Amino acid sequence: MQPVAVNPELDHVPAHHIGDRVIIAMEGVQKWFGDFQVLKDIDLQVRAGERIVVCGPSGSGKSTLIRCINQLEQHQKGRITVDGVELGRDLRTIDTVRREVGMVFQSFNLFPHLTVLGNCMLAPMKVRGASKAEARAIAMKYLERVRIPDQADKYPGQLSGGQQQRVAIARALCMNPKIMLFDEPTSALDPEMVKEVLDTMIGLADDGMTMLCVTHEMGFARSVADRVIFMDRGEIVEQAPPEEFFANPKSERTRNFLGQIL
Ligand code: ADP
Ligand code: MG
Repeated sequence: MQPVAVNPELDHVPAHHIGDRVIIAMEGVQKWFGDFQVLKDIDLQVRAGERIVVCGPSGSGKSTLIRCINQLEQHQKGRITVDGVELGRDLRTIDTVRREVGMVFQSFNLFPHLTVLGNCMLAPMKVRGASKAEARAIAMKYLERVRIPDQADKYPGQLSGGQQQRVAIARALCMNPKIMLFDEPTSALDPEMVKEVLDTMIGLADDGMTMLCVTHEMGFARSVADRVIFMDRGEIVEQAPPEEFFANPKSERTRNFLGQIL
């Protein structure tokens, strides 16, 4: 197998500190949709500060896996613990988890009738009880961080896809999450906008954010991930640091998949 070409435009993220603390723990997690089993016995531990890329064929359960971590979906067997809180014990765990876990989707999911600023102010006011002035200050801080403070008064429909996705990242950051989940954040973007979003994510990684990213951007995986996970048919088939994952994939299924996307 040929080594994978690194996207030369992506900056390399330097080595960083990963704590010993496990911030997400999944043990024997199983989930069905009707009689279709979408997650089969998932065991996964993510340590604080760790950056994980999840890849795998369409329909393999990647979205469901990360949606279970912030309780957009409920698992039926096994245990998921996020920052010490076991999910599903009672309804309050949903609030706790939504506060600590930010999520960015493929399709941005911004509120079209609110301005960029309004989108970013909503959660701090509704969930954290921030005043309007406080929420505005928080929102502007993160819009600056994703480098679009000048778009604050526009509506999502007036922005490019790349800008909308950066707003979605800023909006998630406004909750000051401990963990960020990304579900194919660049898949809906025109090619020329992919880099601006990946660069924003690299900036977050650089700041030490714990990140779980479903993406097929293997250049990003190479330069940012501490660990790459390959899923197929509801299982974690293989996981390894990127150097090892790309140079020496162990399973036939992983090799087939990499052969198709690279
Ligand atoms: P991936 O993100 O890897 O493409 P998903 O987690 O979205 O995979 O989906 C895994 C499988 O579960 C697919 O076969 C999909 O059709 C099915 N699935 C996902 N969401 C639902 C749902 N809400 N109801 C029924 N089936 C679903
Ligand atoms: Mg998906």
